[in-house]
Amino acid sequence: MLYVKDLPNHAFTEEFAELIMDGAVKEENDCIIWTKTLDNKGRGIRQVKFEGVSYQLTNIHRIIYQCYNGKIKSEKEVCMHICHHPDCVNHNHILIGTHFQNMQMEKVRYPNENGKRRVKGGRLSTKQHEGIRLRLIKGKFA
Ligand SMILES: [Zn+2]
Repeated sequence: MLYVKDLPNHAFTEEFAELIMDGAVKEENDCIIWTKTLDNKGRGIRQVKFEGVSYQLTNIHRIIYQCYNGKIKSEKEVCMHICHHPDCVNHNHILIGTHFQNMQMEKVRYPNENGKRRVKGGRLSTKQHEGIRLRLIKGKFA
C-alpha cells in the first residue's frame, strides 16, 4: 500500500480534490463535512486509486488544501481549521500556520477551557470564520 507521501506532484489538482471529496456534505455555514472514515483525531481518511495505484490517504483536508493552493513545503506547517472542525474539508476553511498559532486559535475558540475542546460545539458562522481569518492575517495570534 502506498501513502500520501508517495502521491506524485501532478496528483494535486482540483479534479483530484473533487474525486476524493466524493460523498462529503456541504452544510449551511459552508463547512464541507467528511462522511467517510475518520482517524482518532477526527480527520478524514480513505483509500483512493490514482492512475491505477491504490493509496491510503490520511489528513484528507491537508491533501485537499494542497490541491487548491499548491504543495505545503514543510511538515512543520500545520493546517488550521478556521471553522474548528477537523472533519471539514472545505479548503477555504483551512489556513497554514505553526503549531503555536493553532494552539492560540483553539484558545480563542474555547477561552473557558484553556483552549481544550471537551464537547464538539456548534459550527461557526461564515461571519465568525471571517473574523478569525482577519485576526490571523493581522498577526493577532502570533
Ligand atoms: Zn469548515
